[in-house]
Amino acid sequence: QKFVYDFTEGNKDLKDLLGGKGANLAEMTNLGLPVPPGFTITTEACKVYLDSGEEPAELRDEVGAHLAALERRMGKTLGQADDPLLVSVRSGAKFSMPGMMDTVLNIGLSDASVVGLAAQAGDERFAWDSYRRLIQMFGKTVLGVDGDLFEEALEAAKEAKGVTVDVDLDAADLKKLVEQFKKIVTRDAGRDFPQDPREQMDLAIKAVFDSWNTDRAKLYRRQERIPGDLGTAVNICSMVFGNLGPDSGTGVAFTRDPASGHQGVYGDYLQNAQGEDVVAGIRNTVALAELESIDKASYDQLMKIMETLETHYKDLCDIEFTIERGQLWMLQTRVGKRTAGAAFRIATQLVDQGLIDEAEALQRVNGAQLAQLMFPRFDHSAASVLLGRGIAASPGAAVGKAVFDSYTAVKWSRSGEKVILIRRETNPDDLDGMIAAEGILTSRGGKTSHAAVVARGMGKTCVCGAEEIEVDTKRRRLTVGDTVVEEGDLVSVDGSTGKVYLGEVPVVPSPVVEYFEGRMHAGADDADELVAAVHRIMAYADRVRRLRVRANADNAEDASRARRFGAQGIGLCRTEHMFLGERREMVEKLILADTDDEREAALDALLPLQKADFIELFESMDGLPVTVRLLDPPLHEFLPDITELSVRVALAESRKDANENDLRLLQAVHKLHEQNPMLGLRGVRLGLVIPGLFAMQVRAIAEAAAHRKNAKGDPRAEIMIPLVGTVQELEIVREEADRVIAEVEEATGTELRLKIGTMIELPRAALTAGQIAEAAQFFSFGTNDLTQTVWGFSRDDVEASFFTAYLEKGIFGVSPFETIDKDGVGALVRSAVEAGRATRPDLKLGICGEHGGDPESVHFFHEVGLDYVSCSPFRIPVARLEAGRAAA
Ligand code: PEP
Ligand code: MG
Repeated sequence: QKFVYDFTEGNKDLKDLLGGKGANLAEMTNLGLPVPPGFTITTEACKVYLDSGEEPAELRDEVGAHLAALERRMGKTLGQADDPLLVSVRSGAKFSMPGMMDTVLNIGLSDASVVGLAAQAGDERFAWDSYRRLIQMFGKTVLGVDGDLFEEALEAAKEAKGVTVDVDLDAADLKKLVEQFKKIVTRDAGRDFPQDPREQMDLAIKAVFDSWNTDRAKLYRRQERIPGDLGTAVNICSMVFGNLGPDSGTGVAFTRDPASGHQGVYGDYLQNAQGEDVVAGIRNTVALAELESIDKASYDQLMKIMETLETHYKDLCDIEFTIERGQLWMLQTRVGKRTAGAAFRIATQLVDQGLIDEAEALQRVNGAQLAQLMFPRFDHSAASVLLGRGIAASPGAAVGKAVFDSYTAVKWSRSGEKVILIRRETNPDDLDGMIAAEGILTSRGGKTSHAAVVARGMGKTCVCGAEEIEVDTKRRRLTVGDTVVEEGDLVSVDGSTGKVYLGEVPVVPSPVVEYFEGRMHAGADDADELVAAVHRIMAYADRVRRLRVRANADNAEDASRARRFGAQGIGLCRTEHMFLGERREMVEKLILADTDDEREAALDALLPLQKADFIELFESMDGLPVTVRLLDPPLHEFLPDITELSVRVALAESRKDANENDLRLLQAVHKLHEQNPMLGLRGVRLGLVIPGLFAMQVRAIAEAAAHRKNAKGDPRAEIMIPLVGTVQELEIVREEADRVIAEVEEATGTELRLKIGTMIELPRAALTAGQIAEAAQFFSFGTNDLTQTVWGFSRDDVEASFFTAYLEKGIFGVSPFETIDKDGVGALVRSAVEAGRATRPDLKLGICGEHGGDPESVHFFHEVGLDYVSCSPFRIPVARLEAGRAAA
């Protein structure tokens, strides 16, 4: 096994072995670009070291042989007293872990060679400064010396001299500082700074290996889901210096504009400086274009190199370079980061240039970038006052007048005011207010709190859990420290960052949404480039994707928007959303019914309303499937809060004017009260316990479908039974549903072809999917409840309670309610898919939990072979794109 590769031996595809930096240095070397010679120690060597605590036996000799070859090439030896070869020792893992691991520069300097370097460079200050930097960096990262000790000594030296910046220290000052630094090392590390250059190099290599397992690196990897056993490569590269005078310098550049994708000259240059100086911001950089007048030859060469790199990598590259006395050196390149908009533009530009094909273009963008482009944004060039900060629950930028209750939100918005609904937390009663508001702000609750989930579903801006904000509903105001915001004061809420501002911050709408809404056409000559690029990429995605994309929508308005956004049907219509507002009272009557007659009367009153809802919905989705889910949530959600009602009744009783209805209501509330409502009387259980409820809903669906058929429409209704755990439940409900459908078909003389299926959202349902498929024509995975029940996590509580701790400890990098837990929940989905299809080969399979619009989850659902994903209307473009990327 070979542990060391010369830069001439590697290539860009060897990132596993050589790390990202090493692989790209090798690639550039082999392209004939001016890379300072060097070699890379493989991640394999690192792994051996990490596993056994010792470097592989062969490593020392291999490094020695490569070093000797390097010395021959450079015509000088490492640390040679009269003319030293100096090297950098840099970490470089397969995946970039910015700033997580160690790097040591100027290896090879010693008391002897510093003199030689000064003579060779003709610059004493430069040599002593380089030595000073080595002892500091080496002391800190290799020998574990407290870095503050060096900083303090440096500060003291400047103070003694009466200067404020490092560059004002001269060679004599730095010489003294070197002596001090060496003493610091001896005292703090218990050993002298090593004068033997090879010892310096070996220790630095080991330190880089060790830096793979620092606490912060481990945490970073857990959060970014980078496997912990990859190890890092180590790059040993001959040093070049940008700080050797005005004909030297250092810079960074992009092969095209990372913000717009336009080709041109983008980057910064700093004359007579080293890379660290650019980072430290000691002096101002100049635009890269100015290099042309500073050093035309290097500039021209750089432009040629950038062109070579871009055609070679077929992508935007970013680079770091140094000019040492008029000689250009490439220190690093990689495929560069870019803004979301530039990602789309660059992908299509590269297709036009013939560098990549459409399938590749799809891999160059992602759903998160598209989502980012779909939110309106605050124009931060305007001044703004930060009021507080919470959880970025549902992105977007909303401005409006502060209101503290839903009633006012609705009233004000009806009179044309834009409002922000501010609550401690929201509950189903706030729905009207949330719909009326531009944005929602709560001081409590996490990413799955009611406010967050509902807002995301509506595509409405929401910041939740802004804890510094004290919400006082009674006095209709909020306070943050000394600042008071009264009802009617303007506030601005940024759901993408979680920040809340006082006053009105100007908003710019998203052109991408304007385009999806059909208000902007990409084909027009003056079409915005971004929209044109998005249009093309979406077309590629739609052409290749296998997954269909449906919407979670309960009303015609959402359904129509979903259709404009490309939905191919409705995958989940939550009928409980049709029982809110004015209709709640009717549901209350149903719950309070004592006799069959009362109950039937209540159901009869609901029937025409439900039917009308469905007619609208089927019309807006004409020709496309609409999955209607029968009532799911526990009934108590339709009743008043138990505490509030108890207080009201108690107060009334003390005044001796308790009203009959309240008393009955309270009784019902008590009867329906459950300790664990999520595991209680809900879903199919309601249908089995409340006679006539599901039958009424099925009848409404069937009659609506018949109505649409008679109107020459093409309704494609599917009836979905929630929370089934065993096939017996489904059989009973189906029998009744089949009977009702047959009645409606008979009465209307139409053949309806309604499909009946079930949600798979309980572990038992997934485990017995083979049996359940006997009675179901389709499955839709309810991954919200499935996640809740598989993990035993309450979806309404965990994010606010212990998820933060879990995320911090790296137990998961992202909430399993956001991205499907492939190993647990996903495994159940996979086996249920197989079992279901084994029973019924034409079983239709979809998913309608929140995961349906999550990029990573969409890939998983593609892979397990579902037919469609269903998500909120705003996430449909993202799901389409990711489904395309999964298939390309
Ligand atoms: C689910 O559980 O995933 C689901 C879609 O149903 P709901 O979120 O309405 O419980
Ligand atoms: Mg559910």
